[in-house]
Order: sequence, then C-alpha cells, then structure tokens
Amino acid sequence: MIDHNNQEIQFAIAAVRRASRLVAEIQDELVSPALTKDDRSPVTVADFASQALVARLLQDAFPDDPLVGEEDAAALRTDGANLERVTGFVQRYVKGADSASVCAWIDRGAAEPARRFWTLDPIDGTKGFLRGDQYAVALALVVDGSVQLGVLGCPRLSEACRPDYTGPGTLVVAVRGEGTWMSPLTGDAPFQRLFASRQDDPAGARLLRSFEAGHTNVSQLDEFAERLGVRAEPVRMDSQAKYAVLASGHGELMVRLLSPSKPDYREKIWDQAAGSLVIQEAGGSVTDLDGVALDFTAGRTLAGNRGVLASNTRLHAAALKALNAVGA
Ligand code: AMP
Ligand code: MG
Repeated sequence: MIDHNNQEIQFAIAAVRRASRLVAEIQDELVSPALTKDDRSPVTVADFASQALVARLLQDAFPDDPLVGEEDAAALRTDGANLERVTGFVQRYVKGADSASVCAWIDRGAAEPARRFWTLDPIDGTKGFLRGDQYAVALALVVDGSVQLGVLGCPRLSEACRPDYTGPGTLVVAVRGEGTWMSPLTGDAPFQRLFASRQDDPAGARLLRSFEAGHTNVSQLDEFAERLGVRAEPVRMDSQAKYAVLASGHGELMVRLLSPSKPDYREKIWDQAAGSLVIQEAGGSVTDLDGVALDFTAGRTLAGNRGVLASNTRLHAAALKALNAVGA
C-alpha cells in the first residue's frame, strides 16, 4: 500500500498533481492549431512554470534536498515576455509569486545529484505537448543511487492508462517495495495497483514506440521487432506516459535505441528515474541495451549506460538477445 502519511510521498503526489494541472491549463490555453510549426513558446512557458512550482513546493517541504531538473532560468531572465507569462501562470498556484522568485525557484533545479536528491522532468515529451498529444510531469527521489519513489503525472492519459484513447489524466506512483499505483489526476478516488502484462509470447509483444523518429533508430527498431517475431501492433506515444502504459499491462516492450544522428547520446536521469521504478514495481524490468542496470550515480546523465530496454520481465531475455542480434 501507499503510505499517505509518509512526507516524501505526500509531497511528491501533491507537487506532481499541481504541476500537471498547471501544465494542462497551459496546454489548453496556449496550444492551438494556429500555432506555427516552430513556435515553441507554449512548451517553454509550461516547462519553466512546472519546474518553478515543484521547486517552490520542495523548498517548503524539504529545504535541504537538492533538485536536479531539466531547466535553469538563464534564458528566461532575458526573455521578458515569456518570463511574464510564466510568472502569471505560477501565480495561479503560488499567491504573490514574482518574476525574481520564479527564476530563483527554477534555478534550484540546477543542482548536481547528491547522496539524496530529487529529479524532475517538468514536461517530458515536449513535442507531444505541442501536438496536443501525450506528455508527462516526472518526479523521482533517488537515495544512494537507488530510485525510492517515482511519480508520473500524465494529464492526457486515459483513466486506466490505456493507450488507445486520451482521457482526463492519470497519476502513477511507485514506491520501492510497495508497488505501482494509479489514481485519476484530479479528485480523490482511491489508488489502484498496477501490474505489468503476463504475455510471454514475443508474437504478442506490443512495442511502445516514440512518436519522434529522431529519438531512436527507426530501422533498427523494425529489425529488432522482426528478429524477435513481434506480430502485435506497436503503440506510438510520447514521453514516460509509455512507462505508465507498460506498467498497466497495455504494452510489453519499450526500447530506447541510439539515434544514428546522435550515437553518443546519453539518457538524462529525469527521463528515466520515475519511469523505471514505475515499471519495476509493477513487475516489469528495466536495463540498458546491454542488460546492465541503470546507474543513477553518474551525474545528470546515465553516462555508464547505453540506451534503455524496458519490458514486462517475461520477454526481457528474448528482447536482449534480439537487440544483440541486430547490433543494437
Ligand atoms: P519520447 O517522447 O519517448 O520520444 O522521448 C522524449 C525524450 O527524448 C525527451 O525527454 C528528450 O530528452 C529525449 N531525447 C532528445 N533527443 C534525443 C535523442 N537524440 N535520442 C534519444 N532521446 C532523445
Ligand atoms: Mg524529457
């Protein structure tokens, strides 16, 4: 069970619920079909507002804990128009917030990982956010390199984390040793436990794929699926919402291959910490492409790992073998 009296859990759930609602408001108000293709300002505003809010709430709850977030406020300080918009949105949740304090809260997220730290992706899946599709707010607590708590706020995910339709939003909470649980993002419905799928036939493996071709190696992913004998339709989705779908048993495999345009890319810890615990506590497995456990002690990236393989556990060994066979 989730211990709702635990202060870390209370803080993480409250912070992700609020940040998710804030970014959903920004998506509703600023993302429209009229947006030109290279106008990224809605996601800029949402990214900064989300990090400011979570950092401020962390400051209240655990003033000594470092926050390793994706953003810092350097660019925002010189961008008056967006700073004003960010401050306006943060004021909806923090009365009296001004632009100087908003920047200072954002900069709290520029910390380096320590023995105990929180890591935040204020909006994971920025391209999905701009398309009006899936995205997530991801927050995790890491202690001695081990993810203890992972929370994903997925404002457009369906109630049951089903990938085939959008919904009013889901909150997914994983606590080490206590399982993975979900609840609607808004309201106070009880949490339900999530379990990864029991599928052990590769033919039935639903592959969770990025929407963005540039984040992976598309042709190698196709070769991998063929080598493994996958016949099921893949699921295309942005962000760590995919990890919530896998943890709920609506998909079996998720592979982050190295993009040919960025062979030296290393995963960022805020893109993997919360999602990896969500999958593991639901009975799934997460390693890198070589079968090595993710190492959260190497700084802001997973410098010691190559790519990511997440599975329902039953298909993990076969997937690693197929990855090896296609040279991934
Ligand atoms: P997805 O929504 O699954 O396509 O992944 C979104 C994440 O991909 C973002 O959090 C980015 O940090 C990350 N990303 C950006 N560039 C790359 C890249 N070249 N290779 C892998 N991931 C990337
Ligand atoms: Mg991200």
